[in-house]
This record gives sequence, structure tokens and C-alpha cells, in this order.
Amino acid sequence: MTRHILTAVAWPYANGPRHIGHVSGFGVPSDVFSRYQRMAGNKVLMVSGTDEHGTPILVQAEQEGVTARELADRYNRVIVDDLQGLGLSYDLFTRTTTRNHYAVAQELFKTLHRNGYMIEKTTKGAISPSTGRTLPDRFIEGTCPICGYPSARGDQCDNCGNQLDPTDLIDPRSKINGETPQFVETEHFFLDLPALAEALGSWLQTRTDWRPNVLKFSLNLLDDLKPRAMTRDIDWGVPVPLPGWEDNPNKRLYVWFDAVIGYLSASVEWARRSGEPDAWKSWWCNPEASSFYFMGKDNITFHSQIWPAELLGYNGLGAHGGSPGEFGTLQLPTEVVSSEFLTMEGKKFSSSRRVVIYVNDFLERYDADSLRYFIAAAGPENQDTDFTWTEFRRRNNDELVAGWGNLVNRSISLAAKNVGAVPTPGTLTEADAALLDTSKAAFASVGALLERSRFKAAIGEAMRVVGEANKYLSDQAPWSLKDPSQHERRDTVLHTALQVVDDCKALLTPFLPHSAQKVHELLGESGVWSGSPEVREVSEEGGPDYPVIQGDYASAAARWASRPIEVGRPLAPPKPVFKKLDESIVEDELARLGGE
Ligand SMILES: [Zn+2]
Repeated sequence: MTRHILTAVAWPYANGPRHIGHVSGFGVPSDVFSRYQRMAGNKVLMVSGTDEHGTPILVQAEQEGVTARELADRYNRVIVDDLQGLGLSYDLFTRTTTRNHYAVAQELFKTLHRNGYMIEKTTKGAISPSTGRTLPDRFIEGTCPICGYPSARGDQCDNCGNQLDPTDLIDPRSKINGETPQFVETEHFFLDLPALAEALGSWLQTRTDWRPNVLKFSLNLLDDLKPRAMTRDIDWGVPVPLPGWEDNPNKRLYVWFDAVIGYLSASVEWARRSGEPDAWKSWWCNPEASSFYFMGKDNITFHSQIWPAELLGYNGLGAHGGSPGEFGTLQLPTEVVSSEFLTMEGKKFSSSRRVVIYVNDFLERYDADSLRYFIAAAGPENQDTDFTWTEFRRRNNDELVAGWGNLVNRSISLAAKNVGAVPTPGTLTEADAALLDTSKAAFASVGALLERSRFKAAIGEAMRVVGEANKYLSDQAPWSLKDPSQHERRDTVLHTALQVVDDCKALLTPFLPHSAQKVHELLGESGVWSGSPEVREVSEEGGPDYPVIQGDYASAAARWASRPIEVGRPLAPPKPVFKKLDESIVEDELARLGGE
């Protein structure tokens, strides 16, 4: 049965290029999942975009003497290239500064407000005592009350990552002139989380198949639910769509309120671009559809609490009742799939200390599939994990080159040299049949693991088949079957090996789409096996052009099944699928990292 599956991928913040720690959390896992689901015949909608509002972009733009929009434009483009280069197969990767996104975010706010879940509260806002003007959050700095970091900002501590209010700061001061801000009464809208607590709790109780750490963390959040500010004193963001508010340049929707709505607005934009404006409803308004949200662990709160609360309030399903807005009743997340953190050579990633490798630098020197392989096989799926160049090189050389690449190369070159095409098999021995059974059975076992987002176990299981096939080839030694009387046996072994290569190509496609395409061509096939994402320039009516990632994945041939390989099909001249990495790369890369 065909299912509708929404893959909702965390929105990268548009203040710099992505490093490999970022893409190991949200990027590669979500793409492996989506590619598998498409191969299994399901209708996948994979959406995301750059998150472009909030204080850090404003602060950085001011430092660089450009507008927030110019900064966001620059990094939106850089990030689009990073993600496309890794082969991440978004149906739409867009941005939060589109008119469409503004309209969708405002529709959610208006309905939450109408249903009674946005409560207006008088709170303390900062003004500059010397000028009497509003002091936006980003201009207030002080000591973090949680971790003691001396340069926390009025909205967030960059050291511990906690969200703050300016009044939380110890010794607050103005970043403009150092004076102590004066706090006066100001109005803000708060999401009434206590009124949604019961609905949130009942929903979370049904989420028993989540990763245990994510579920436990999310349930713990329910113990301490307070109304949470969803508007801020800031002049960059989505205007608050209420009379008396929308024209106030210093009040905007909180960046996190609008960023999570991006999953919905990107789906709406995708539907419009595909020429079927209502198509997004098959994922959002269909109780049979499922949705999987991929992110690093620092974002769990927003996906297991804030976003579901926004949806419940929009649907009118909290203590205040209410009714859905113009989008109808929207589905809550089926699963929140969160990764742990990747470190680099034992250190936390840090752009300022140069403990970092950016995706674009990585892709200049290495193949995307080598990184995708490392992330799937050794990434931070269940625990914090360290990336080292030694281990990256070892896995590339021992597992991709000497394992999978060697199997492809040995099988295809022997068959090409001796037969020139896929050989005709004779009677199968027990060993032949056993290997073919193992490889066929792997579609069920690897598929079941991918269905549950257990990527590390899944790629391990697929590579186990590769290992057995390599052992089979060594045992059967078809290269020694030279006498004409042995040719039937030789051809049977090679046919078996090529069938398993074709199976493993399919089993590894979600993880290694670029090399799967190469293997497809080496096996003498033409056409697109695994679809590739493309960068396309688009615009909204009357608006500027911007790049999006899209792709035609539905027409690719890849299917999650063993297909009998076609006897007599000519094979392509063999060439290596992966590049062996020299020992010197480790030293070269370590020299590029900053020392401390
Ligand atoms: Zn802190």
C-alpha cells in the first residue's frame, strides 16, 4: 500500500556555510530515509529551507555593514550549494523570507489567537535611558543566569543554547553605549502552553516507538510548562498580523514560532510550484499520512513541544477549544528523529577556533558518498561521536574501496574480460543459492531497520552482504576456472556475483546514491537509477529570484527489490567506483585545523 510520508528536515540558520557536524544531524539521515521510502514505493515529500530571521543574522549583518536581507541572501545560496552537493534529495528546499512563508505563518498566528491560545501579556521590555527608545533584544548583553557566560544576548545564550528574555540576564547592558537598560512595561503575545499541556501529554503518550532519549526528554518538558513569548522586540521578521501590531516596526513574530511553520509553508510552496496547489493536503490533512522530523538534539524542544502545541492550538484541540483555520485540521508529527552531536578530533566544532570542516571544502577534496558513508556507519545516531581523519580514511579505504568497490570491480572486470556481458548461469550449487538467498533476504531486514531510522544497523547489514559476497568470490575463485570444461561453472559464479552486486547496489542506494548510479552504468544499464537534486532559480510574483533545491526523483528507476539481472547485457569497461585515500591526507587535514 502506498503511503504518504512527509520528511521534515531541520532548517539550517542562514548565517554561514554548513559544516559536517550540521549535516550529520539533520542532512544525511533524512535523505537516506527519504530515498529508501521512495524506492519502497511511497509518496515522499521532503521539505526544508534556510531559517533567516532572528537576532544572530541581524547582529552579524551589522558587523559586516550589510542588511539582514543581503546576509540571508548570501548564505541561503551557499547552503543550497552545500546540501545539493551532498545529494540531499529535497522535493523543495526554500527559505523563510518568502511572501508565501509570511502568509502561512500569519495564518497560524491569527487562528491560534482567535482560538484563545495566544495570550497578550504585559511584560518588561528594555529601553535606552538616554534616548527613551526601545532597545531590541539583540542590543542587550549580560551574564547568562544558567551557565554564567558573560556575553549572553537578550534572546539567547550562545554558550549553553538556552532561550532567554532580556530580564533574565544578570548585569544587563546596552551593546550600543554600555548603559544599563531600563525595563518598562510592554506588550507581547505568549503561546498558552499550560492550556495545551493535557493535549500535548495525551499525544506524547501515544508516541511509544520514538527513540527513548527523545521521548523521555519530551515527556520531562511537560512538567514545567509556562506561557512562552511568541513575539519579540525586533525589527527583522514576520509582522504580527493584528490591528495595532502589524505596522509596528519593532514587534515581530519570534523566529522559532515562524521557523517550524516552514515545514507547512514549504509544502504549500512545493504544491503551487508543482501546479497542483492543494497537493500538500495529502500529507498534512490526511490522517493516514506520516511525518518524520529530522534534527540535532538541541532542537528537540521545538519539534516535540512548540510545533505540536502550535498545531494543537491551530486545530482547536486544547483547553480553550476552538476550530481549525483555513488549512483545516493539520497532522501532528508521527516521529521526531533526533541525532546526538558530532565532534571533530575530540573537540567541539567551532568556526572561530577553526575546529571545523565545511561541506563545500570537504566536497572539493573528497566524494560526497565517502562522507555520507562515514555519517551513516559511524555518525552520531545514538550518542555523541567523534570524526577523525584517520577513521574517515580507514573506513573509506577498508570498507568502501577494499569492500564494496572491490566486489564491484572484481565481478564486473572478470565477466567483462571473459564473457563481455552478463553470463548465462548453469546449475546452482548450494553456495550459489545460499548467497543469493542472503542477498534477497536483506531487502526485508535492511528495509525494516530503515523504516525505524536505524541507519547504522541498516548500513551494517547491507555491508555484511557485501562481505559475504567477497568471501564467496574468494572461495569460488572464478579466475582460476580457465579450462574450457570449467567455463560453465565460471559463468555461474560470475552470474551469481553480478546478481548480488546488483542487489547490493539497490540496498546501498539510499546511503550512496552517487556511486549506485556508477555501478548501475558499469552493469551496462543506462538512464537514471537514483535521482539527483538540482539547484533551480525561481521567484514569487513581483519578487526577486532565489535558488531552491528540487529534483525529479519519481522517474528514477531505483526500487527496493531484487531484480533478476538480464543475461547477455553487455558490461561497461571497468573503472574504480571509489578513490583510495593516501596516508598523507590525515596530516594535511590536521594541519588545516586550528590549534589551541
Ligand atoms: Zn548560558
